[in-house]
Amino acid sequence: MINGFSKTILENLYDGVYFVDCDRRILYWNKGAENISGYTRSEVIGKRCADNIRHVNEHGIQLCTTECPLAKTVDDSVPREQNLYIRHKKGHRVPVLTRTSTLQDSLGQVIGAVEIFSDNSPVHSITQRIKELEKMVLLDPLTELANRRYIESNLQTRLDEMRRYGRPFGILFMDIDRFKIVNDTYGHDIGDKVLIMVANTFVKNVRASDIVGRWGGEEFLAIIPNINEEQLFFTANKLRVLVEQSGFSLDSGIVQVTVYIGATIAQPKDTAETLLERADKLLYYSKANGRNRASIRQL
Ligand code: GH3
Ligand code: MG
Ligand code: MG
Repeated sequence: MINGFSKTILENLYDGVYFVDCDRRILYWNKGAENISGYTRSEVIGKRCADNIRHVNEHGIQLCTTECPLAKTVDDSVPREQNLYIRHKKGHRVPVLTRTSTLQDSLGQVIGAVEIFSDNSPVHSITQRIKELEKMVLLDPLTELANRRYIESNLQTRLDEMRRYGRPFGILFMDIDRFKIVNDTYGHDIGDKVLIMVANTFVKNVRASDIVGRWGGEEFLAIIPNINEEQLFFTANKLRVLVEQSGFSLDSGIVQVTVYIGATIAQPKDTAETLLERADKLLYYSKANGRNRASIRQL
């Protein structure tokens, strides 16, 4: 009835989707429907919705036995949209927005109906809102990297862990070379694209446990756990080379930038301030010594 591709799409929808035949027996029940209703596929396939989820309206009228929107749609082929309440497997009522339409075979014969229902409960929207707020508070909106606030708090956690469990970590301070010239030459929008490109090169080329964030402007900070000096210097240079090898085309040519990096391993005596200060000094050392360069100590 449904091919693999459509099935993948249906399975990944947040919405609940189910198909019934003309007798209103459930033929298909997607993952979204399982999540919203609490009923698994095996509990509903072959049954009627009146057997379990029993839609009611706000007056408590049992629609499945009286005026089921699916039955009406099967009868008159008119799609319907309605705010209803389904019964969750645990017993409580869940508000849903339902949309029903007919299913037809290749000859146009009505063979059943499909209902799509979405969770309308405010709790659901509050959780979503909290997730969005969390994102707003901790993510840099342009690059979608962790923002400075997140990086600062993570740095503190790492320092605590180092003192408590002896877990080593290093940081990389990274700054784009002469970024102002990019903005002045190509405009601010292209400047933004460059920041996104550099950010992507960073995040896609560090380990899952590493954190790269935007410190501000064209400055980035990476926190790299479980690493020694040699490996940190290697990582810094790898990122530096990969940025140098990144670029996108414009009519006027290819836009490319380089970065200068200060790399340092956290020491047991370090506070966030002393650690950042050392990385910052090495950052400027890299700049003073020719840019497109990483430094882990001043020679
Ligand atoms: P240096 O090589 O010394 O690092 O010079 P620079 O030009 O990279 O650094 P400078 O601090 O002089 O200028 C940074 C520029 O970055 C200036 C600012 O307008 C620009 N910038 C900061 N944030 C953004 C942003 O979000 N988007 C864009 N397009 N530009 C930004
Ligand atoms: Mg800068
Ligand atoms: Mg710069």
